[in-house]
Parts: sequence; C-alpha cells; structure tokens
Amino acid sequence: MAKEDAEPRMGRPRSVRFNSLFSEDEFGEDQPSASPASGGSSWSDREPSLHPPAPDAFPGSSPGTLSDSMEGTSATSLLSPTIREGWLDKNPPQGSYIYQRRWVKLDTDYLRYFDSEKDTYSKRLIPVSSISRVSSVGDQKFEVVTNNRNFVFRAENDADRNEWIRTLQQIAEERKGKAAVRTSMSLATDSATELADKSGFLELRGFKHKLFVVVAGDKVFLYKNAEDYRLGIGITYIEMNVGNVKEVDRRGFDLTTPYRIFSFSADSEQEKEEWVEAMQQSITEALSNSEVAERIWAVESNRFCADCGSPKPDWASINLCVVICKRCAGEHRGLGPGITKVRSLKMDRKVWTEELIELFQRFGNIMANQFWAANVPPSEAISPTSGSQERKRFLIAKYREGKYRHYHPLFGNQEELDRALCAAVTTSDLAETQALLFCGASVTCDTGDPQCPTPLALAERSGQRLQMEFLLHNKTSEPPRLEMVCSEEKPYSVHLPSITHNGFFYKTPSMVKPISERKGLEEFSRRWCTLQDGVLSYYENDRNTVPNGEIRVEEIVCLVNNPLHAHGIESTFEVYTEADRLYLFGLESPASAREWLKSIAKSFVHPCAEELLALDFERLGRLHYKGGLTLERAQEGWFALVGSTLHVCSEDGRRQEPLQLRKLQELSIQGDHEVLVLVERRRTLYIQGERKLDFLGWVHAIQKAASSSGDTLSEQQLTESDVPLLVDRCIDYITQCGLTSEGIYRKSGQNSKTTSLLEVLQRDARCVRLKEGEHHVDDVANTLKRFFRDLGDGLFTRRWAPNWLWATALEDEEAKVGEYRQLLAALPPVNRATLKALINHLFRVQCFSGENQMNTHNLAIVFGPTLFQTDGKDYKAGRVVEDLISHYVEIFNVNDQEMKKQQDEITAIMKMREASSSGTQQAGDFICTVYLEEKKTETEQHVKIPATMTAEELTFEILDRRKIVMKEKDYWSCFEVNEREEAERPLHYSEKVLPILHCLGTESYLVVKKQMSMENMLIYLASRVGDCKHGMMKFREERNLLGLGLSTGFHDRYFILNHSWLRLYKEVRSLRQRSPPLESSHKPEKEWPVRNLKVYLGVKKKLRPPTCWGFTVFYENEKHEKQQWYLCCDTQADLREWFATFLQVQNGGALWPSERPRARVARPQQDARLGNISLIPLRGNESEMRNSVAAFATDPLTLLRNV
Ligand SMILES: [Zn+2]
Repeated sequence: MAKEDAEPRMGRPRSVRFNSLFSEDEFGEDQPSASPASGGSSWSDREPSLHPPAPDAFPGSSPGTLSDSMEGTSATSLLSPTIREGWLDKNPPQGSYIYQRRWVKLDTDYLRYFDSEKDTYSKRLIPVSSISRVSSVGDQKFEVVTNNRNFVFRAENDADRNEWIRTLQQIAEERKGKAAVRTSMSLATDSATELADKSGFLELRGFKHKLFVVVAGDKVFLYKNAEDYRLGIGITYIEMNVGNVKEVDRRGFDLTTPYRIFSFSADSEQEKEEWVEAMQQSITEALSNSEVAERIWAVESNRFCADCGSPKPDWASINLCVVICKRCAGEHRGLGPGITKVRSLKMDRKVWTEELIELFQRFGNIMANQFWAANVPPSEAISPTSGSQERKRFLIAKYREGKYRHYHPLFGNQEELDRALCAAVTTSDLAETQALLFCGASVTCDTGDPQCPTPLALAERSGQRLQMEFLLHNKTSEPPRLEMVCSEEKPYSVHLPSITHNGFFYKTPSMVKPISERKGLEEFSRRWCTLQDGVLSYYENDRNTVPNGEIRVEEIVCLVNNPLHAHGIESTFEVYTEADRLYLFGLESPASAREWLKSIAKSFVHPCAEELLALDFERLGRLHYKGGLTLERAQEGWFALVGSTLHVCSEDGRRQEPLQLRKLQELSIQGDHEVLVLVERRRTLYIQGERKLDFLGWVHAIQKAASSSGDTLSEQQLTESDVPLLVDRCIDYITQCGLTSEGIYRKSGQNSKTTSLLEVLQRDARCVRLKEGEHHVDDVANTLKRFFRDLGDGLFTRRWAPNWLWATALEDEEAKVGEYRQLLAALPPVNRATLKALINHLFRVQCFSGENQMNTHNLAIVFGPTLFQTDGKDYKAGRVVEDLISHYVEIFNVNDQEMKKQQDEITAIMKMREASSSGTQQAGDFICTVYLEEKKTETEQHVKIPATMTAEELTFEILDRRKIVMKEKDYWSCFEVNEREEAERPLHYSEKVLPILHCLGTESYLVVKKQMSMENMLIYLASRVGDCKHGMMKFREERNLLGLGLSTGFHDRYFILNHSWLRLYKEVRSLRQRSPPLESSHKPEKEWPVRNLKVYLGVKKKLRPPTCWGFTVFYENEKHEKQQWYLCCDTQADLREWFATFLQVQNGGALWPSERPRARVARPQQDARLGNISLIPLRGNESEMRNSVAAFATDPLTLLRNV
C-alpha cells in the first residue's frame, strides 16, 4: 500500500484531547476515569489477570498476544489468512454517543480493527486466546468478552451479526481446544511465550503519552500502557520483515516501514542504542530463513523445547541434538561449548548441512530425552514459565551432570564402552551411540584398526553419514560428570572449565626465560597432577593432599606442543602464564601428552575460539592484536599455529580466514620487540607483545613457520600466486634491470656473490630487496639458475621429468603440445605456477634477443639442463624448454588480455629505463594520497613516495602534475594536516616525506598549498638579532597529564626558546625583570628538547583558545611517551615569530631554499602498475590505505598506545 493512502487519514485530528496518529478516540475508551458500569460496557471490572505474569517488571511471560502470534500456523501473521472481515460499528468511547465505523478483521490469532480497509496498522488488537465469550446483546450488537475487557460491536443487520458471533465463537473454541491438547501433553501451557526481547516505554511522535513497546521475535508491539501489555490488549504490531531502523539523533530513532514511519524517542542515549539493537535483531529474525526450522519441526517432538516444553523452539544444541527455546538456549550457552553447542535454526544458516538436518529429524527431542530425561523427578522439571535460575539448575543437572540420564549397562567400564562405541558407529543405531558417548565412551578412542584408527573413520567406512555427523559435533564434547562443582557466575558467562584429568607426569621447575637448550631426563621430577575446576595442581605423589604448586587455567596464556624428543622425555609441552612464567611438562607416552594438552587447552580457551580445539596445534594461546580496519582498538584474540598456518579467532567470534604464513608479504617486529606485524595481501595484523615470554615464543614460532622449511618448491615462501618468493624476486629484478643485458642467463656471475645471495634469499626472501648497483644482473640470473639446479625433486618432479623428456620425441607438433599440457596439469600446483612464471619470463627475455643475444634456443641450452638437473649432453631437456617457450601461449593457455598486459608492462619498463638515467627504482615504495590546496576528491593525487623524496620534491611533483608554475614569492609547500586537532604543519622543504607518511594518523593527510606567512617569517628571521626568543604565551596542558584534574584552561607562562631547549617558567617575576631569567638562578618549571617537539599551527576550537593565534605541540620522549599541549599568542605577528624560530631551530637553517631549481629534480616516471608495488597493498578506498600506511609507523606502538 502506498504511503499516501495511510498518512492523510492518520493525520486527521479526531479528538482534541489526544494528538494521536492512531486512534486518539480509542484511548478515550480505556481511560481509567471511565465508569465500568457505563452503558457501552467498554471494559469490564478489573479482575485479577488470568494471564501469566510478565517478565521483569511484569513478572512472568509476555501476554498471550505475543505467544499466540508465534504459535500461529505460520511464522508470520502476514501469512495468517483472514477468516472474516468487514465494516462494523464500534460502541462509542466514554463521553461520546457516536458509534464509530471500523474495519474489523479476524484471523487465527487476532481480532483487530482499523480505520479503513486500506490500513496496515490497527487501532486495537485483541488476541483470540484472550476471548472468553462472544454473545449477542441486542440491537444487532454483539459483545466480545475477554478476561479483562469487553468490546461491543454493532453489525448492519442481524444476519451479519450472527455470522460474526458464530465465527468468533468457533475460532475462540478452536484456540481453547489447542491449548487443552497441549496441556494434556503436559508439555506447555497456552500462555507459553517467547520472552520479550525488549520492552519498555518509548515516546512515539504523535502521541501525548509514552507507549509501552515490546520487541518480540519478528514483531514490534505497541501498547497504550504497561497494564494493557499485561492484559494483552494492544494497539497494533509491526511486522519487522518490512522494517528498517535508523538512528536520528541522540535519543531518537525511526522505524520505517513502507506504510508509515514510527519516530521513537528513548529516555537516554544508552536506552536508544538498546532499542535500535533489539529492533535490528528483530528484523534479522523476521528475514531469517525458517526453512530449516520448518523441516526440523516436521518431527512432532521437535515442535516443543526439549527442556521446558515451550512451543516452536527455534534454537538447537547441535551436539546434543535437541531443539530448544530461546530462553533455554541462553542457559545452554552458559554451560560452555564442551557440553552443548548452541545454534539458531533460523539464523545460523551455514551450520545446517543436509546431514545435520537429517540427524535432527532422525534423532528428535524424543530420542534425546529418552536418554537425557529418563529419570526426571516432577519436582525438578521446568516449564515454559520457569525462571532463569530454575532453568539453569535443571540444565546443569541434565546435561553437565547427566543426573537424569538413562545409564548404559556398560557405564563405568571404559574399555567395554569404547569397544561398544566402535561397534555402534558402524550401524544406524544412533540411540546406542548417544548412550555410549554420554556415558563415557571416548570419541577418539583407539579402534585397534590401523586403517580406521578412530570411531569416525569406522563410521565413514561403514557409510554411516549420520553417525559421522553426530561424532563430528561431539569431537570436543565432555561426558557428563556428577561430581562436578557448579561453576560460578563469570563475566561473559565464560564457563569455568571443570574438565577433570589426572595422572603422573614430569615437570621441571618453572622458568622466566625461554628454554634454550635440551633438558635431560634428570632435570624433570615425577609429579602427580590433577586438572580440576580450573586449577592444574601438582603434588609430590598421588597420596598427598597438599599440592606443591598450582596454575589457575585462566592465568594460562599459551600452550606449546613441543616436537617429540625435544627434551630428555619423549613428549613435552610448555605452559605459559600471565605472570610470564614458563612450565615444562613431560610425559612418556605421546598419547597421554596429547590427552593432557587437549584437556588443558579446552579448559583455558574461550568458547568463542572453540573451533581451534579441533586443530592439531603446535602453539595455542591468547594475544592482543589489531587488525582489519579497526586499528584504533586492540582486541584479544585466540591464535593457533598449525604448520605454516596461523588460525585466528577474534573475541567477537567473527570467523577469520587463517593466515598462510609462507605467503606473507611482510613479517617484521616493530618498536623494540613489542609488535609483530604480519602483512598479507588483504590485511595487516599487529600482534602486541603484552608479556615477554610467550610473545617471544610466538615471534620465533611464526618467523620459523613463515620461512622456507626445505629445499622443495612447496616448502618455500610463496607469493599469492604460489610462486616461490625467491623466484619471483629474481625474475622481477631481471625484468626490471636485465632484459637488455647481453648474454643474460648465459654469462656467469661471481660465484661467491651467487652463493651468498642464494643463501640470504633462502633464509628470508621477504626481507631481501634487490637493488641495481648493489646486485649485478648476472649474479641474480645465476642465483635463479642455481636455485632450480639444486631444487629438491626438481621443477618437473622426479616422477614426471622422464615423461616430459619422452614427449620431445613426438613428431606431431599438435600431439606434443597436447602431451605437454597434460603433463603440466599433472604437476603439483606450486610447480605448475612456478613453471608458468619462469617460462613467461623467458618468453619475455627472448623478445629482446636483438639486444641480449638470448633467443629461445640459447635460453633452452642454458635452462634445459638446469631445470632437469642433467649434465646437458642430451638436448632433450633443452628441447622441452625450447618447446615451452615457443608454444608458451598454447601450453599455458595465455589469453590475449594477459599477453597485452605483459607487452604494456615491458614497453613501460623500457620507457622508464630510458627516461631514468640513474634507474634506482626501488622496490617497496609507498603510495600516498596528496591533495592540492584542499582536501577534495577532485584534488587528490596518488604519488609513489620513494625513500629519498623530500617535501620540496613532492611539492614539485604535485604542481607538475597539475601544470602549475611556481612563481616567485609563491611559497608552495607541503602541509601535514591533522583534522582531529584542527591543526596543520608546513613541512620544511628538506624534510623527507616517507617518515612523515609512516607517522600519519588516520585523521591526517598531506596537502600542497601556498604558505602565506612565509614571506613575513623570512623577513623576521633576517632582521632578528640572536637566535633565541622569549616571552609570554598562554599555556594549556592536556588535563590527564597534568595530574591535577582541575587546571584545564589556558594560563600565562613565560617561555624561552633557544637553539636546543624550550623552557617554561611559572614565575611572572621574570617578566618584571624585563630580561630573561638567568638559568642558574631560575629553574624552569618544565623544559623540552626542541628537536623532539612537533609544532602545529592551530588549536582545536573545543578547547576555547583565548586567541586565534595558537599552536598545538606534540612531544615524544625517548620512551615514546607522548604529551600534547597548546600555546596561544596575543598577536599574529607574535605567533609568526615564535613559529619561525621553532622552524629555524628545528631545521638548523633557512626556511626556504635560497635558490629554486628551474626544473624539478629528474625522477623516473612513476607508474603504479610497475615493479614491486608498495608493501602496503593498494586496497579499496583511500581511508583503508591510509590506515595501513599509518599502521606502518616507524613505531606502531604509538598508534597502539593512542587507544
Ligand atoms: Zn525451553
């Protein structure tokens, strides 16, 4: 319906008393002042509500309206078919005699009336479930009696009236019948409801009084007041599948639907946020897919919560295979993922695989409860109306303690249980598997079958898909234990682990330094150890009751699984604690070490990272890190290192792609070993070293995992496209510098240089930047050849090399190419990618054979024996290479576009080399956005910033690009603008840009513009006597740094600025002396070395600077501690003089070059497409790029500290 249909009518005033957009008059009818006895009998005497009490302020559940809508035959009442509708007169409200014409609609859930048939939102809704009687009251009138109020309607004629009564009675009866059936099933009562997700008072524009608003499931209900809410008599509800929520101002927000905009206003900002969140959640729920739910509900027993019996439960525990209601789901979560893994039927779409749905259909609540709830005493059972504590108690008893379960006959006999499990999983008997598993059978028990070592493998072999699914979801489940102590409340409902594990193991005394050498057996002592209720304790022996020591699991920050035989005991692992201590434990059997590791891991890993527990990790722990686009805030994450893959789980539980460490573009430690920076193509991660010991361990482990581990191709550091970085670096360098070099790849370089270059590249190619002048092309070319010649397994692999050589004998060219293509497809991915990269390179090299003399044949002579690792006496190897280069396009399936791109690149490289005399194009330049005159999209320029570029050169670069000629006395300069501080700083012409770029915060940018005060500053400096300045300025420090809380304004202080210090004096006496105070007699209150100051023009308005001539000064000491303060001068001239002095002192000379070069410094044409693009991936938008540039600050900790 179009909005205009609704609005005019809604806006039409109907009453002077209420400025309502809905139904002012309706409010009248319900005014408490109205006499219950009055003729219209618009409401009955107030009787105690038969509705169950509502939650919180309205104890109990929400009114029938809400639940009923949920219980309706369809998920949304949009789909509830209208049973009867038509015009009726409603009896007049209090104080009026005029009947009101209303469009009345009845569906299975509600009787509602509207102003007209076009309306979407009713003026009143009466839940069918609350209708106790419908009767005729004469005069074509009939009365709808609810538990609390009566509504009288008048029909056109008796026939119509009778039809309404009949229909209403029938629907109400049906509803009652349904309720009765349910009660007899003792599963739920009619009042069973979903908990309101959020309820409370909100102002709604157009209403004089606040309304009581309830967000429940996929609807938002409006009630006139809290009393009405309790009674269930509402104004209307809003289907959230058409809703959209938008914040408007501090307290206001709009709920927009196609039919109407509801402008709400909450009591506070906090309240508003909660409402917005609840409504957004409701929209998600409304839009969520109920397909899974419908399929699972197809099984009768799944239609009621397995724990409390609430109808239409739309949550589930996927390992226990029970369907549960939202309230029970909340309590399930508190039990921890080791007991129950809670997922939504409607929202967690990904988890619901075909197998899992089938498992739930086969299993069903009935089968689960036959086991879990076999012996529930009626006194302990819960119902839909049970409170949270009651629920919690029940669920702990049911699932964590297994108190009500049906014990398996083999209970207590581990071996028998395991054996029975191995047998059960090969059958379709899921009930048996369930009973065994939750009576103690080990999901990872040894089957004794080397082919199928685990029950999972057995199930797979037997083709038992559902058994597999069930086992998979219970891989990390803990069997119930009666003796467990109930966990205490913890923030984030982190379940205090109560895994119990005990046994003898070996340990060494705890350490405060990394273990650098092998520990002999004699250094370990045998201890009895228990892991229980979150404490790992070790005792002298198993008879002792007082532990020698203990570690609380929440103090554990890292767990390391050492390689076998790392120490004198076969299996060892390390535990790191918050207090920077390291414990080394050892066990004689790898299996029991694994058990211990698993138990400890399970006990200390947060539920949000439970997926890490399934990994065979070398190192697992928590660390603070920053990543993605949220560089402002460090968050805690859980990390697991497996091989060369680093898995990350953030605290918000969002899934993250694991990092492939060998493919990192950059891995470095910044800021005095405090931050580990990992740069991948799409993201950058900063791992902070909060504690020394475990961080150091992580750094070494990650560095090791990120480096090449062997001499085969796949063990190398790789590029994104799976080419070894070493190969990529060499090829790139030759492409940039050696394509026209005579005899490239044939001439031998210096042997010693080749050897050492290969060595550094193999150690860490990521850190090597090949530079012209430093590295000779022939040395690099030889390094590449040497790498391939010595490569383990060879580029063509030992297995396939003979086939390649054999293929050369094929006479039919087409058949040969076909054979090569097949052989290529057979190579491992890394070999295939590498071969393509290399042949592509050689193809380019031979394009320049006119200059380099290396045609295809010559290249083949060199590379054939190299790649096949032969002596070169037989030309077959060369033939392969020759064929690959000649048929490069066909064999590697290179399309025109790719070819064209390569041609363009080569052309550009050649042009660039011609243009550049020096040719010192370096890899790893930064690309930065610089604006001309002001920050606007039209004025932005992307500039590649080489390490040597000065502010002057950058200024010229920008002016050149915009074809602006610098005139005399046009003091074009580059400024660093800090938007947050509303301050800017002109860069000195000789300043290097790159370091500034490194430090730019996210709210800063560079702009090139004219420096208006330069002339005056130059005049001042030229005319000045001496090189120091002193005088009064108004000073203000950042409050928190002053330590005095109160003094937040600007205060007069006396300053002296000389060639090395800025000093501040409190005494005004010095001013009276009319001369600077002598340093010997007068101690400054503060002093700062000038070189460590960064002076910006401007003070942010929020601080209310006393004059508009101010500076913002940043100071950073040796320890990178930052301070920030503000100075204000009385006049512009004064400001200019101070600033000129600062600049002069800081730059040790002229502010402006005495002579400007006529033309700009020759610089090779910058082309972003070429060469090694910046370290920082050029990502989507500018602010992302800036973020990552900023994050590369020379000291990233400054960023981290600015939190
Ligand atoms: Zn429940």
